[in-house]
Amino acid sequence: MKLHEYQSKQLFSKYGIPIPRGRVAATAQEAKQIAEELGGRVVIKSQVLVGGRGKAGGIRLAKSPAEAESLATQILRMDIKGLPVRKVLVDEAANINKEIYLGITNDRSIRRPIIMASSAGGVDIEEVARVSPEKIIREPIHPLLGLRDYQARDIAVAIDLPREHWKVFGQIARGLWQAYQASDATLAEINPLVITGENTLLAVDGKMVLDDNALFRHPELSEMRDLDVEADSEIEARKYGLSFIKLDGNIGCMVNGAGLAMTSMDIIKLFGGEPANFLDIGGGASAEKVSAALRIILSDPNVRAILFNVFGGITRGDEVARGILAALQDIRTDVPMVIRLVGTNAEEGRRILADANMITAETLAEAAQKAVAVAKGA
Ligand code: GDP
Ligand code: MN
Repeated sequence: MKLHEYQSKQLFSKYGIPIPRGRVAATAQEAKQIAEELGGRVVIKSQVLVGGRGKAGGIRLAKSPAEAESLATQILRMDIKGLPVRKVLVDEAANINKEIYLGITNDRSIRRPIIMASSAGGVDIEEVARVSPEKIIREPIHPLLGLRDYQARDIAVAIDLPREHWKVFGQIARGLWQAYQASDATLAEINPLVITGENTLLAVDGKMVLDDNALFRHPELSEMRDLDVEADSEIEARKYGLSFIKLDGNIGCMVNGAGLAMTSMDIIKLFGGEPANFLDIGGGASAEKVSAALRIILSDPNVRAILFNVFGGITRGDEVARGILAALQDIRTDVPMVIRLVGTNAEEGRRILADANMITAETLAEAAQKAVAVAKGA
């Protein structure tokens, strides 16, 4: 789960990281009022869960409350990378002398968290990582010992941070580590961390990604989930305990098991198709769950074919078949469906589905090829 910038920064602030004064607004009038409270010079920042808002025109400086109002009006009408802007953060504008990158994530290859920093912070850190990776300093963090003071100091030296900022930089790095660890995050990032015209350090942007599997330990963080910006289908899927991620292709996938679901998507691509979603119905899925999954897949207007790939173990073939039939009674659809069903009660499942006009397949390769063909209108 991604947190919005304003949520991430509020969290950072609890761990002692200095952030600009500011508040979030849903209307231009509110934005104007906040600008008045902050004394006029503000930055209006679209709150959408994608990076690169600045380049997309979603971050604008305003010199007066009136300008704040008109910029907020414009930004609140924008779509950024397909996401509608519903809120703006109105922050006191910072005078920026230098932009630094500071982030913590998990490095799977060394099986540890890693803190990364760069003196070339700002909007193009991905480009820096690609073109001049040596400009990004990395320090592994021991998961039990945490970030050590000497490590923060080493980083400060490596990014040529003037000595007068080392102490506060150390506090910020430690705060970021604490925020990361305490909230079971997979990413905590400040880009940019700026040296201001007043020669102080300030976290101007903030980003956090939380581990969904640990959210149950953080009810106060789960509440921050922004239902507005999630696809309706993903919200519906969560209600039924389905792991579902919407994608841009046209072949809907219903699979049991995350590994099998990924394999199915790979094989669809191998044969020239594009999956419309990732969907794991899980082990032992009931007919009700299967039926919900089918409804969710069919609610996507891009879907031209559906591939069912069910390996019956705990999940029973007949139960899956009954779920499909139940769903098809509610939803009229002419989307062609290809099914590969093996394992527990597969034969019975196939018998139940024989009446439903499904295309059957013996192997996954055959099923994927058939799905790709029918999606292309064959
Ligand atoms: P992002 O583009 O989504 O990463 O959004 P950021 O919050 O990082 O803003 C992008 C860029 O806008 C920053 O790197 C800054 O250069 C600039 N910016 C953001 N806030 C301020 C501010 O308060 N004052 C000034 N002068 N520039 C800002
Ligand atoms: Mn940024």
